[in-house]
Amino acid sequence: MALRLYVATSSQGKLRDFRTAALAHAIALEPLPGLDAVAAPEENGATFEANATLKAEYYSRFAPGELVLADDSGLEVDALDGAPGVRSARYAADAGLVDLPGANDNTDVWNNIMLLEKLAGIPAEKRTARYRCVLVTARDGVVLHKAEGSVSGVILEAPRGTGGFGYDPLFYLPELQQTMAEISLETKLTLSHRGRAIAALLPALGV
Ligand code: IMP
Repeated sequence: MALRLYVATSSQGKLRDFRTAALAHAIALEPLPGLDAVAAPEENGATFEANATLKAEYYSRFAPGELVLADDSGLEVDALDGAPGVRSARYAADAGLVDLPGANDNTDVWNNIMLLEKLAGIPAEKRTARYRCVLVTARDGVVLHKAEGSVSGVILEAPRGTGGFGYDPLFYLPELQQTMAEISLETKLTLSHRGRAIAALLPALGV
């Protein structure tokens, strides 16, 4: 029988990524039942690992006896000493760049503007960056497995492509000569931080 792993994410995109990456393995990735009714813990860790760990410990207490997976991910830019890092989702908001009340959600746009602003004047060879994803599993509040994946790239001076999300239009993959927003979802999964992290986790789970 396939191993069942409950994923503590309300992001359909992440769940789909994890499922696709684990397709050939005897594992069933399901959304954590009742997740919407559970208040999210504060993600106040200083590292991706700390945040993924606190989420795995926390959410696994809501599914007694079950194996629960939590993740944390983001972008690290060398010229910015690893920023935005764990603040990737809230990079612009931290600086007060937010949508006007009633406006559509433009978080990704603000974050990209913020990143371009911070890197203004920095030459291409110094705009190196990586996406990182850390995965942690836990059962009944006890951490069992950890795995990590990353993908390296360069931050462009202007966005390219319409796919993906977050910083993808600025994240250029030199080997493919395309941004993360220009490649297909299948290609993204084979080389993305999330795809690589789940591929690293599966052997630890014995599947
Ligand atoms: P979290 O893992 O949901 O906390 O995501 C953190 C943030 O990192 C997201 O809101 C994005 O801004 C960024 N991020 C993480 N993974 C990706 C990706 O695959 N593409 C683009 N941005 C990403």
